[in-house]
Amino acid sequence: MTTVGILGGGQLARMMALAGAPLGLRFLVLDTVADACAGQFAPMVVGDYTDRDVLAEFASRIDVATFDFENVPAESAQWLTARVPVFPNPRALAVAQDRLAEKTLFRELGIPVPPFAAIDTREELQAAVADIGTPCIVKTRRLGYDGKGQFRIKTPADIDAAWAALGAQAAKVGLILEGFVAFQRELSVVAVRGRGGEFRAWPLTENWHVEGVLSASLAPATTTDAMRDTALEHARALAESLDYVGVFALELFCRDGVLLANEMAPRVHNSGHWTIEGSETSQFQNHLRAVTGLPLGDTRMVGTACMLNWIGAMPAAAGVLREAGGHWHDYGKQPRDGRKVGHATLRAESPAELADALARVGDALDRQAQVAPVVSRLREG
Ligand code: AMP
Repeated sequence: MTTVGILGGGQLARMMALAGAPLGLRFLVLDTVADACAGQFAPMVVGDYTDRDVLAEFASRIDVATFDFENVPAESAQWLTARVPVFPNPRALAVAQDRLAEKTLFRELGIPVPPFAAIDTREELQAAVADIGTPCIVKTRRLGYDGKGQFRIKTPADIDAAWAALGAQAAKVGLILEGFVAFQRELSVVAVRGRGGEFRAWPLTENWHVEGVLSASLAPATTTDAMRDTALEHARALAESLDYVGVFALELFCRDGVLLANEMAPRVHNSGHWTIEGSETSQFQNHLRAVTGLPLGDTRMVGTACMLNWIGAMPAAAGVLREAGGHWHDYGKQPRDGRKVGHATLRAESPAELADALARVGDALDRQAQVAPVVSRLREG
């Protein structure tokens, strides 16, 4: 009997536990709060990620450790490696936690990135804005997510406001300035690498964000074969250089047919939720297969799929459940502004059928604006 320890008890851990049950896996979840939603399906240890007593108890009850949350302190992950296997490894976690280290690695691997510069002072910000040009974006190097900890500089006159908003973070978590990419599309590659180095990727996904938070994902993204191959080569190069084990996502901007890397997520990813019903093997199951040393499953798609995120509060389920290819995921969380509380996946045999189903769901749930960009992408072919 293998027990997988998961640091972080959110919806990703919850979906991992659900995916691991048929494999006979047991789980133990570590989270700072007792009502973390994965706790509805797995026993928990409640405590701080840096508390050595908590970590020691956690380690003593598991066979392998993994993450649902990338901001677990890398030192805690390192400490755990002396006691149990930890996947992905702490170096991969540390690189992915730091936008500067991440972009530097992308560049070393020949993965195109927007121009960027490390910022520690207001003078450096001023000089970097002059160098990179406007528009550009200041981001915190660490602990930013879903568009938080970012400030867009449209003209040099915005530098004061940007420093007022984020300057205090420079000493705490560091800042990075990036050129603004006027992309036509956002894509992601979700991929998995096994303990023996086997590598697989799901078809490319196109993503739409609202206020920095993922709103909808469509798979497969319509791209040329060459673009898909390039994206997969980037993901493979990244996984191999980090000796990565498990699932990860590489987020890409597509501008005039060129892919630029934005960031990697060292974990199962929101843009891969469609794989639960839309693929032969879900990202959650393949992550567990990878970290427990089982053979990886096939990542081929079953039809075409769209995932819609529910943010803040759950809509009524009936409009989705009525659809032949409609699947509902309620994370069992309390409603709260900006919080990811659930998602739906719609699956269909063809893009035309998926567009029709999405349009019906948009009307039934009064989410026309959320489905509209996906429907038009599907209809334009
Ligand atoms: P991130 O937290 O880096 O994933 O950024 C959240 C969202 O902000 C992205 O999904 C993009 O929509 C947008 N964004 C981030 N960085 C850039 C950039 N350099 N150029 C244009 N848009 C960006």
